[in-house]
Amino acid sequence: MKKYDFIIAGGGMAGLSLAYYLSQSPLSDRSILILDRDSKDRNDRTWCFWERDAGPFESIVFRKWRTVDFHGTTYAGPLDLGDYQYKMLRGIDFYDFMREKLNAHSNIEFQQATINRIKDTPQGGFVIADDEPYIADYVFDSTFALKMNQPEHHNLLQHFRGWVIRTEKPCFDPERPRIMDFRVEQHGDCRFVYVLPFDERTALVEFTLFNDKLLTEEEYENVLRRYIEQHIDTGSIIRGQEWLKEAGPFDQQIDTTTYQISEVETGVIPMTDEPTQENPSEHIVRIGTAGGHTKASTGYTFQRTQRYLRDIVQNLVDTGKPNRNPAWFDQRFKLYDSVFLNVLEKHRHPADDVFTRVYVENPRRVFKFLDEDTRLIEELRLFTTMPWWPFTAAFFDVIRRRWFG
Ligand SMILES: Cc1cc2nc3c(=O)[nH]c(=O)nc-3n(C[C@H](O)[C@H](O)[C@H](O)COP(=O)(O)OP(=O)(O)OC[C@H]3O[C@@H](n4cnc5c(N)ncnc54)[C@H](O)[C@@H]3O)c2cc1C
Repeated sequence: MKKYDFIIAGGGMAGLSLAYYLSQSPLSDRSILILDRDSKDRNDRTWCFWERDAGPFESIVFRKWRTVDFHGTTYAGPLDLGDYQYKMLRGIDFYDFMREKLNAHSNIEFQQATINRIKDTPQGGFVIADDEPYIADYVFDSTFALKMNQPEHHNLLQHFRGWVIRTEKPCFDPERPRIMDFRVEQHGDCRFVYVLPFDERTALVEFTLFNDKLLTEEEYENVLRRYIEQHIDTGSIIRGQEWLKEAGPFDQQIDTTTYQISEVETGVIPMTDEPTQENPSEHIVRIGTAGGHTKASTGYTFQRTQRYLRDIVQNLVDTGKPNRNPAWFDQRFKLYDSVFLNVLEKHRHPADDVFTRVYVENPRRVFKFLDEDTRLIEELRLFTTMPWWPFTAAFFDVIRRRWFG
């Protein structure tokens, strides 16, 4: 059995990013095996994130914006993001970019196989995939499924369904995405739509919920259909019928009158404050969603994973070990996430109003805060814009649940 320096179990966002950072580091000559059951040749997701400067994937960023639109309870209009840009990256562009970069390194192997088992042994991390054994000094695992079953913690889901639509008439402003539009029935949850324009006639329109129960496909689609009818001027029905005849078939054609659906995106992201184990044993490191790299209060994972992976590679270079040791004071952000999840889970205050306050009263501060780059004084300023009683009650409930179960 060949021994690798590193096995990357799961060549998705985190696995491929890790291989990329390793290939750019002084460890670029190490033998790496990337195992994934999927060929990664479909546009299976779109990542959005914010960034101040050009990032490592700048050349494949699909769209980026300095101003975004927001529709909340007391404000509807543009938000200026200051130094930040909101960026959109298509999954397929990321996978293609990675394949091209990583294939240039003969020490990096790809194997399409289903992983059946990952375990630690005294000789290293051991993986069985399609009944073949593999071993390495370290196995980086992004395939582990989070448990999310401890009642003293908060276990919500961010789930969504989105359509890329092409409209009969130009109706999108390519310079203006809508990042949160709460003009949908809330049903006591946090429910919103976002609209990310590709051009004047094409956009990703996605309906997203934060709660603990998935909807049926029909329920998501009814909301999307109604939202488009009410809030996007897609064209006239009579002209639309003629246009549809001319437009011809799209990949996944769903019959509407003034717009066509060319792609469907669905997903479920954990919003949990259950402790995750990034380092479950000596030779195994969990990364990406499996490693707890998702921010519990927002579901955003892409940029955090990049940041954590760069730390892991730097630690490997400096010490030969990958383990990250976050400073204890930085753990306060986990408490903030839990308090926020508690407000949502217990319906302590309407979520649309919480988000309106967060974004509208803190447009410049909010991204820095969500990146966990703020100082305590900035955090306290942001907290003063929140409804104090629901958040205070949530804070004490979090403490009670942690200490008394
Ligand atoms: C549709 C969608 C949209 C998202 N949008 C955003 C966004 O806009 N911004 C953001 O920050 N986050 C977003 N996320 C959350 C998060 O960034 C993504 O889920 C991201 O892909 C997580 O990276 P990962 O490497 O942990 O998991 P993945 O990218 O899912 O990679 C895991 C890999 O492991 C493979 N695998 C799993 N089990 C096995 C097995 N047994 N054998 C072999 N291979 C296996 C899978 O095929 C997959 O390639 C989104 C998630 C989804 C699903």
